[in-house]
Amino acid sequence: MISSNTVSSTWDRPFEQPESIPNEADVVVIGGGIVGVSTAWFLAKQGVRVVLCEKGHIAGEQSGRNWGWVRIQGRDTREIPMMQEALRIWDGFEEETGEDVGFVRRGCLFTARNDKEMRRFEEWVRIAGEYEIESRLIDRDEMRKHVRNSPIEWVGGVLTQSDGRAEPHKAGPAFARAAERAGASILTSCAVRGLETSGGSVSAVVTEHGVIKTSVALCAAGAWSSLFCRSLGVAVPQLKVRGTVARTAPCDDVLDGNLFDESLGIRRREDGGYTVAHGAILQHPITPATFRWSLKFMPALLQELKILRVSFGKEFFEELNMPRHWSLDDVTPFEKTRVLDPEPSQKVLRGIRRNIDKIFPQLGDTPIVESWAGMVETSPDVVPMIGAIDDIPGFHIATGFSGHGFGLGPGAGKAIAGMLTGVDTGIDLDPLRLSRFFDGSPIRPQSTI
Ligand SMILES: Cc1cc2nc3c(=O)[nH]c(=O)nc-3n(C[C@H](O)[C@H](O)[C@H](O)COP(=O)(O)OP(=O)(O)OC[C@H]3O[C@@H](n4cnc5c(N)ncnc54)[C@H](O)[C@@H]3O)c2cc1C
Repeated sequence: MISSNTVSSTWDRPFEQPESIPNEADVVVIGGGIVGVSTAWFLAKQGVRVVLCEKGHIAGEQSGRNWGWVRIQGRDTREIPMMQEALRIWDGFEEETGEDVGFVRRGCLFTARNDKEMRRFEEWVRIAGEYEIESRLIDRDEMRKHVRNSPIEWVGGVLTQSDGRAEPHKAGPAFARAAERAGASILTSCAVRGLETSGGSVSAVVTEHGVIKTSVALCAAGAWSSLFCRSLGVAVPQLKVRGTVARTAPCDDVLDGNLFDESLGIRRREDGGYTVAHGAILQHPITPATFRWSLKFMPALLQELKILRVSFGKEFFEELNMPRHWSLDDVTPFEKTRVLDPEPSQKVLRGIRRNIDKIFPQLGDTPIVESWAGMVETSPDVVPMIGAIDDIPGFHIATGFSGHGFGLGPGAGKAIAGMLTGVDTGIDLDPLRLSRFFDGSPIRPQSTI
């Protein structure tokens, strides 16, 4: 049953404008998603004067709308050290800050319906072994222990018991509060319009509420990074995919952890319900960026061909009519859309309901009580782009987290803070540099095992 009150009420909140803004900072972070707030926290803990500007709400976009999975299973090897660090930070965050983000390690399980799928998991288990990650193949009998009373006859799966989940609506604001307590200024309803430079290097960040002098700026603007960077003459390949998500009412405990089946992504929630999404639909609204970046994204698009659903509609014309350059004295596209809040797809919601009923018939009477959508921003190889932009000394980007930046976020924040201050975190960011897409390196998209 999809109840009639599947609403987006969580997202309707008043915007709190800053009373004043600092004149100066060592670092300005643009964007208050999990990546921005984690970076601000680590910078502030180092004693760096950091200001974070968020055009809408903290975690109002991807970071508050995701499934809440914190998973190392299936990660690209370039991301593994950062994800290992992220898991350690998630583990210790509550003890260090007193903030509850609902993080628990209850495992991540990918299912196989045939032997061919099972063989694909073997490759991940081999990689996991090299990094001492406790992933293992499980058989049909063990599957039944994890997924209770399902009529589906899986042949087995791959399980990483040390993976976990956190509650997205809590995590972003909690990291922002921790950053504030450590000395960061966190400004909401404060869009960044652009940069000022002196001799080609960053000299200030221009916000809708005034100018902040700084020599270091970080663009952690999620789905807006490509537009922001383009206005500065920096090309960032990025496409968007709409993800529809729902939550059920509290119900029977049919699964403790996170489960990804060919038709359903599901995880237990702290409130006793489940967060659910379709496992086999990626909705990509065609926009001018689809054509601009088609060659770079071709390997990823071909890899996901079976589950890709393209559409042509208002998103194309909205992007076509979006200015690419603007005066820093005028209202910019960032102020016109404080929060990117796409409509959930009713068709996908019906599919989610059908798939829950098939896999967990005992939840047949459990209503879906809320649904929402988020725009996932992706890079051509489905791995983030993090690093300095050489043409504008002082300017850096951290974007393209491609559907898995929530779990990675705290590890990314630590690594990025280290990059900005020259502190060695032991996490090599060079493989994630933006220039990999422009220097002739082969583009090999990460596969979601
Ligand atoms: C439906 C869905 C499911 C997902 N599931 C998972 C999951 O289970 N696990 C996982 O690890 N990841 C998941 N992800 C991906 C994850 O949510 C993202 O990778 C991650 O949140 C990215 O964080 P971010 O800080 O880079 O970007 P965002 O959270 O998008 O934050 C960017 C912020 O920048 C702000 N901004 C933009 N431009 C400006 C400007 N000019 N001035 C000021 N502010 C600006 C925006 O308002 C926004 O708040 C999912 C994503 C979606 C949408």
